[in-house]
Amino acid sequence: MNHDRHENRAIRRIVLPSGRAIEVIRFNNRADEDRRELQVCPRCGSDLVQPLSWSETADGRWNLMLECPNCGHCESGSFARRQVERLEDHLDQGLTEMISDLQRLTKANMAADVDRFVAALDSGLILPEDF
Ligand SMILES: [Zn+2]
Repeated sequence: MNHDRHENRAIRRIVLPSGRAIEVIRFNNRADEDRRELQVCPRCGSDLVQPLSWSETADGRWNLMLECPNCGHCESGSFARRQVERLEDHLDQGLTEMISDLQRLTKANMAADVDRFVAALDSGLILPEDF
C-alpha cells in the first residue's frame, strides 16, 4: 500500500487478490467530499462512473466501490446519502436515455427492413411461391 498526500485528500492504493488495483480516496474535508458528484471520474472527468458494490453504514452514509468504464479508475469510500441519491438519479436518467435510444434504433431497423422488403417486391425478387 502506498500513501500519497494531496492538498485535502489521502489516496491509498490497494492491490486486490485478483490483481486488480483500487484507490481509496480519503478526503480530509468531509464537506468538500459530500459535494462531489460521484458519477464524475476524478481521473479522466467522464460522467459514466458506475457503482460496483455498496452498503449502508450505521451512521447513514454509504460505502461504495466505484469504477470508471472510460479509464478503469476504481475507488472505494464512504459517501453522504445525498451524494448517493444524486448518483442513483444520474444512473436512472442514463437508463431512461438508453431505453429511448434502443427504441429509436429498433424503429430505424424496422423501417430499413420494410424499405428493403418493398424494394425486393418492386424488383420482382419476392414471388408468391416464396411464401
Ligand atoms: Zn475515468
